[in-house]
Amino acid sequence: MVDYDEDFMSHLIALDGVEDVKLISAPYKLAAREYGNGSSIDVEAKINNKIVKVRFGGQEVVIIVGPCSIESYEQMDITVRCLKALGLKIIRGSAFKPRTAPRCFEGLGEKGLEILATMRSKYEVLTVNEIMDTSDAKLFNDYQVDVLQVGTRNMQNFRLLDMVGEMGKPVILKRGLCSTYKEWLLAAERILDRQKKKRVILCERGIRTFETYTRNTLDLNAVPVIKDLSWLPIIIDPSHGTGKAEYVPAVSKGALAAGADGLIIEAHPNPQEALTDGDQSLFLTALETLLGDLRKIAKAIGRKIA
Ligand code: PEP
Ligand code: MN
Repeated sequence: MVDYDEDFMSHLIALDGVEDVKLISAPYKLAAREYGNGSSIDVEAKINNKIVKVRFGGQEVVIIVGPCSIESYEQMDITVRCLKALGLKIIRGSAFKPRTAPRCFEGLGEKGLEILATMRSKYEVLTVNEIMDTSDAKLFNDYQVDVLQVGTRNMQNFRLLDMVGEMGKPVILKRGLCSTYKEWLLAAERILDRQKKKRVILCERGIRTFETYTRNTLDLNAVPVIKDLSWLPIIIDPSHGTGKAEYVPAVSKGALAAGADGLIIEAHPNPQEALTDGDQSLFLTALETLLGDLRKIAKAIGRKIA
């Protein structure tokens, strides 16, 4: 088999117009390290005639912060004003929430996207938002969401993966609760297959194990393993990874030291009153302290915070 491959490859390389031939034996070809070795992913938008840009997978570490859900204009205004003052360029906050139990707050829907778009132009920051359904594509385009998030529960929603690929926006693909690295990379492959500009960022957010003390078990192995298998940037979600705000700083610092390309962290002006995920949301003051520590770690490993 190896002989055949080598013969076949030297045959291909001899063809006119062929500059290089790479053998990628993994089933995920576009996500494989060999495909994009050394590449990074830019997220860029012109907001009020100003270019706002972050780069995932480069020297910078991208810190995305915001509440779990968009709850009101005031809640977002207080939060984003603070994040902007802390120098952050990209924010989160979901308008559509996947909830395990019915009859819980499921997000403000379109109203939430409208608030997020207002924050985007008021504070000139990029936005991340979770898309749950193929029928919402128009809304996400109309409200100029910069990065689509595909959540854990939808990692293998294949129609949704195809559609977000076709939308052409960068995608943060969260790892499924019980998904292997291979399944995760194959889900990314599905999106990459449809994208002209290949922009998928992987997010490890904790997997399900026998341990129930924390909400999930954050698998930090994912950082070196994904870096070995794939060229795609990997970010860590310490909020869902632990489920408890008091553990978020330690895990965030560990993730950065381990080589993660970014973090996505939940923060709220008043976590006790949050409509979703208050237990794992940082107070804005705690976030400020954490950012100070992250800057020191970034410096120590030759990176800096975007
Ligand atoms: C979220 O980011 O708020 C969320 C629902 O994440 P996950 O899909 O990782 O549970
Ligand atoms: Mn959440």
